[in-house]
Amino acid sequence: MNGNVLKPRKIQSHKGDYGKVLAVSGSVGMAGAAVMCGRAAIRSGAGLVRFAVPKELFNILQICVPEATCLERDFENVIDINDYEAIALGSGLGLEKSNIPILKKVLNDYKGTLVLDADGLNCVMKYSLYGNLKASQADIILTPHMGEAARLLEVESIDIKDREKAAREIQEAFGTTVVMKGANTLVLTENKIYVNDTGNPGMATGGSGDVLTGIIASLAAQGYSGYEAAKIGVYIHGLAGDICAEEIGQIGMTAMDIADRVPEAFRRLA
Ligand code: AMP
Ligand code: MG
Repeated sequence: MNGNVLKPRKIQSHKGDYGKVLAVSGSVGMAGAAVMCGRAAIRSGAGLVRFAVPKELFNILQICVPEATCLERDFENVIDINDYEAIALGSGLGLEKSNIPILKKVLNDYKGTLVLDADGLNCVMKYSLYGNLKASQADIILTPHMGEAARLLEVESIDIKDREKAAREIQEAFGTTVVMKGANTLVLTENKIYVNDTGNPGMATGGSGDVLTGIIASLAAQGYSGYEAAKIGVYIHGLAGDICAEEIGQIGMTAMDIADRVPEAFRRLA
């Protein structure tokens, strides 16, 4: 990949030109996942990042991600989801029944780019929202790791040699872009496939996937198509992990370390 894939930032521009991300992430006890996702989204250049979260999370998020704002997760009275170019849905969301109307609202009414990850995917499976997912008008990117992909396909596990076939099956079943995570993450859409070559096993650490979700949503908010956002996002995420490995080694890198190397990863790509 080279810097030509990146959109230059115009001299005469303001935050409104770089899109708004809504992070529907986090729940009580899992605020960290929202922090990783939101911080990565800011570090990836979106003009504005807003959390849609339970009120109990406001303080922690405003301390950990002061650049972002918080709104209560109420899509009837508080938040107009179509006001956002991209939505990141799922990091640390939890599996509570109360997530059903949230998932339904976003899948049924949202028309922008939607990154569905982690508990977003798990809730679709747990509450059988497959029909809503298939019928959605949003440009959707699913970002399962192999375990989540197996659950989506309702199989026990996926053999590593079958992961492209599995990603293709998910793509065909839901008509989305699929990011099959792991070493050499695959990004796949109807007629394109990209095999990533950045990243390292130090990235196998809690919150790493939430950082990826934030990066992809941020790129989508800036006007990249779902497939392009996924491809560039996966590359940048891996490169940020490789920069962590250079600087501090693979063993102790954290998801936050990865998020904080994202700007340098963009600089190297550009
Ligand atoms: P998650 O399991 O959702 O936290 O996501 C983990 C993230 O780290 C994904 O983006 C993976 O692609 C990445 N990752 C995990 N293990 C490796 C590895 N061995 N090599 C490269 N990337 C990895
Ligand atoms: Mg994950």
